Amino acid sequence: MPLFGIYGKHTTEACPWNNIETAKILLKLAESDVDSQATEYKIHKIVGQYHSALEHTFLWVVEAQDPHLIQEFCVDTGVATFNELKFVPLITFREGVVSGIKKIHSL
Ligand SMILES: [Zn+2]
Repeated sequence: MPLFGIYGKHTTEACPWNNIETAKILLKLAESDVDSQATEYKIHKIVGQYHSALEHTFLWVVEAQDPHLIQEFCVDTGVATFNELKFVPLITFREGVVSGIKKIHSL
């Protein structure tokens, strides 16, 4: 299953720690059944959700079929209303990098 990183960042002013409106959006998402919602967008698994609170950045790692549907998920859940987002295809170190190096260099 393809792996994608959802990289996000927001301003200090838009941060849910500082802004009641974005706080409500994020709490609503956090207190919902996010995994079930995600499957409607062919996001099969949310592998991890990592945040750097005071840098106002985050990385969510998901197993998903279509980055366009990840985009829809972020719009429909409100995540895209206060975050700048990018969706990056990822590979694991073992499966992608090591195998890639061996293949590229015939090792
Ligand atoms: Zn923040």
